[in-house]
Formats: sequence, C-alpha cells, structure tokens
Amino acid sequence: MADNHTMEENLAAAQASLQRFADAPLLHLINGAKVPSASGETFANQSPIDGMHLGDVASGDAADIDAAAKAAAAAFVEWGSTPGVERKRVLHRVADLIEEHAHDIAVTECVDTGQTMRWMSHAALRGAANFRFFADQAPGANDGQSLPTPDHVNYTTRHPIGPVGVITPWNTPFMLSTWKIAPALAAGCTVVHKPAEWSPFTAAMLSEIALEAGLPAGVLNTVHGLGETAGKSLTEHPDIKAIAFVGESATGSMIQAQGAPTLKRVHFELGGKNPVIVFDDADLERAVDAAVFMIYSLNGERCTSSSRVLIQDTVYDQVTEMIATKMKNVPVGHPLDPTSIIGPLIHPRHHDKVCSYVDIAESEGATVIRGAEWADAPEGGNWVAPALFTGANNDMRIAQEEIFGPMLTAIPFTDEADAIRIANDVPYGLAGYLWTGDVGRAHRVAHALEAGMIWVNSQNVRHLPTPFGGTKSSGIGRDGGDWSFDFYMETKNIAVSFGNHNVPKLGG
Ligand code: NAD
Repeated sequence: MADNHTMEENLAAAQASLQRFADAPLLHLINGAKVPSASGETFANQSPIDGMHLGDVASGDAADIDAAAKAAAAAFVEWGSTPGVERKRVLHRVADLIEEHAHDIAVTECVDTGQTMRWMSHAALRGAANFRFFADQAPGANDGQSLPTPDHVNYTTRHPIGPVGVITPWNTPFMLSTWKIAPALAAGCTVVHKPAEWSPFTAAMLSEIALEAGLPAGVLNTVHGLGETAGKSLTEHPDIKAIAFVGESATGSMIQAQGAPTLKRVHFELGGKNPVIVFDDADLERAVDAAVFMIYSLNGERCTSSSRVLIQDTVYDQVTEMIATKMKNVPVGHPLDPTSIIGPLIHPRHHDKVCSYVDIAESEGATVIRGAEWADAPEGGNWVAPALFTGANNDMRIAQEEIFGPMLTAIPFTDEADAIRIANDVPYGLAGYLWTGDVGRAHRVAHALEAGMIWVNSQNVRHLPTPFGGTKSSGIGRDGGDWSFDFYMETKNIAVSFGNHNVPKLGG
C-alpha cells in the first residue's frame, strides 16, 4: 500500500500526535490503566531532528515492573485458557486498528526515531501484518504431534509458558515490538513490554490500540524506563517466565546473567555485521541496488543491513564505483519528507558513535567516500551523510564492528574459498547475502556461511512463516512461523498405555 501523504500532511499529523506527548508525561500502561511511576520519576525524550524536547516519560523501576508483572500473572489465568479462535478475533481487531492509525503511527515513529516516512509507512503496516499472521496461527497453537508405539500412544500438546517480558530497541520500534508481542499474545502468554527509552512513543500507541481492540486489562502492559533499571528488573522478576529481547549483543549477555537466578528462558535477536558477497558472474546492477538498499535505507540502523560488501577482485573497482555513484544520490532529508531516504540518527550518542567510524576508517588506511549532506538540516539534530569505505580488509574495525549507521565497508576477495573465509571471520552471524550466476556455487556458499538467514540474489525479503534469527553473537533462537510458538509455549508429552504392556512386578 503506497503512502501518498505530502510533507505538509505528514507535518500536521506529527504535530497533532506530538501534542499529546508534550502536554503531559507519557505514563505506563499497567493492568489497563495509565499510571505514573511509583517513584514519580520521569526522563526526557528529545527529537533526533533538532534536539528539541519532545516530552517527559515515566521512568519505571522495580516497583513498576513488579506491579506490571503481577498484573500480567493475574491476567494469564484467563488469557492463557481463552480459546485460540477468540484470541484470533481480538488480535485481528488489533491489526484493524493499527491499519486505521497507520499514518499517525508512522509519523510519530519518524519524529521519535529519525527514520524516514518512506520506510516507516511500511513498518506501521508490517506491524498490522505481524498481528494478522500470528492471529491466524492462534487456533492451532496448542496442537501437537501423535507419536504412537505398539503399546502406548504418545501425543504432545503445547501450553503458553506464562507472563513474558519483551524488551525492544529503537531502530524500528513499533514494527519490532509487534513482531515479539503478537506471537506471545497469540500463544496465550501475557506480556510486560519495556520499550527503548530513546523511542517510547509508538509503544504507548500500541498498548492503547490493544486495549481498544478488546484485549483484556493486564494482558499487555507497557513499562517505560531505562535498561539498567526497568529492563533489568523485568529480567529478574520471578513471575516472568521468559524474556524476548531485541538489541545489542552486549546487552544480551547482561540479560542472560540477570535472568540466570530465576532460570529465564531467553530469546535473543542481536547485532550483525552481515556480508553481501558479489561474485563477478552476478547481475552486478541488481547486486549493487540490493547492497545500496540494505545499508542506506532505514538510516543503516537495521540488524540485517549489508554492512560489509565483499566483492570479487576482478570487479572490485567497477562495483565500488557503481555503489559510490548511487550512494551520492541517496537523499538525506527531513524524516517526514516523502522523498527523504536517510533521516537523522536516533540520539547524539549514537550519532557520535557512527560518525567516529569515519575517523577510524581513515586511521586504518581505508578510503572514505562520502554522500551528500542535507544543506537545510536543522541545527541540533543528529544528521549524518552516508559513507562508503573502500580499500578495506576484514581485520579493520570498520569490518568487524557493528556501526549501525549508513556506512558500508567494501572488501575485495579472490575466489569462493576466500569469500567464505572473510564472510565468516566476524563474531556475528545474523544474515548473509550472495550474488552469483552459478547455481551450484550459490548453494555451496549458502551452506558454508555462518548465519541464520541467507538470501541468494536478493535483498532481505521477508516471508513471515520462515525462521528469523542469528547464530554466534547475533542471537539465540528463531522467530517466525511456528518457531515463535516454540519459544512462548511449553511442550508436554502425554503417554497413554493401551493397557496390555508389561508393568514390572517388584516385591511379589
Ligand atoms: P540496546 O541493547 O542498547 O537496548 C535494547 C533494549 O534493551 C532497550 O529497551 C534498553 O533499555 C534495554 N536494556 C539495556 N540494558 C538492559 C539491561 N541491563 N537489562 C535489560 N534491558 C536492558 O540496543 P539498541 O541500541 O536499542 O538497539 C540496537 C541494537 O539492536 C543493534 O545491535 C541491532 O543490531 C540490534 N537489533 C537486532 C535485531 C535482530 O533481529 N537481530 C533487530 C533490531 C535491532
């Protein structure tokens, strides 16, 4: 569905949406009620566009998490045994309302995160699609397998694990939240959501929409706050049975440690340093378009971005030149301008981190090619021009570390074995992309790459029933299709005897 709104319409909608966040502090939603933090603490949310104060947000801590976890535990008694067809009905209603409010959600996301309308209009609708997909799976969520033997019938069933914690990042916060929350609710779990403190607005919109759709109070609770307070308390709470987390690898390690005393089940979608491998027999135009799209869309703040392009040495100069030409035409601009591709980065701290890689690239001996800046960029915003680093090798920090911005590192390789070696020589293993005209090589390389997801002759094109997730430092577990239910549910095996098997007689 194309979004045809003009810049003026987007600005007006954003202003109306922001007004409610500016008027009063944004509150938690616990047990169906909007409440301030027990401590009365708030934190400030600032605009990535110009650094202006957007509003204050309730800053939760252990007391608020405890209230939300208790509400989720109480609500689980009903929701966990609500028939799947009824869960399906309510979740489709959530999707309907997301679609109805998609434009408001998208413009709010743009001004809160700096991501541009071009992508956020799709991301809002993808949020609805996530709810619809998992709603449709809800009636079969408890289904299991029949595994008979000659004297017993074994059959499995699945049951929702209980109240779960969902902790999300700021890069596409609305869409990512729905990707975790929709399957949890479809499975029959209740949720305490701790959204990223740098982008709290659309999480509040989601929980309000869910209430309006008829989701019972306490089934979805939202507690705002910092990672080290609200987030940490959520991972430690004894009533919370599992943590679904999307964010940095280092945070994932902390969460695993924090959850260990209460034996939390964890699902992690973490960082990446994904290779796109371009062999000289590939359709170079399509390969370049895909590589450019995967790093310079979404501000490069995308876990599956193609942040390393590995190019066969025979076409290295040609391909880097093609990328540079296109990169220089990628417009940086106001996030609400429908023609903008790159907007401001989320936060000054992240901006400084991303920009530091330009100096790092130069100091490591790579050549830095910059794209265009936005001449009218407002003062005080986190604006950045895209960059391409050529003449790089895989030992450089620009090849090893997740920059999470619109900066691409181009590395040459000699042959198939060299490409695989370089591709795998990073701590991460989320996604891999490869471009070749040789079908045998496509399969060989796809099998050899250490990553959870491989796309051959394609950019990241998602199909919701397929498994999504990473290996190595990129994550634990898979989402999508039935994989999501495996995380949010317990599998039980029931063995029933036909009555004629041997029962050992001991003691007479
Ligand atoms: P982050 O790890 O800093 O924060 C993510 C969330 O964790 C936030 O809500 C934060 O408040 C919370 N948090 C921080 N410390 C915590 C703690 N000790 N206990 C509990 N919660 C805590 O990540 P970010 O900077 O917001 O997001 C960017 C990262 O997310 C990148 O590394 C990116 O690759 C990754 N990401 C991965 C995927 C994926 O599917 N693999 C998708 C999107 C983003």
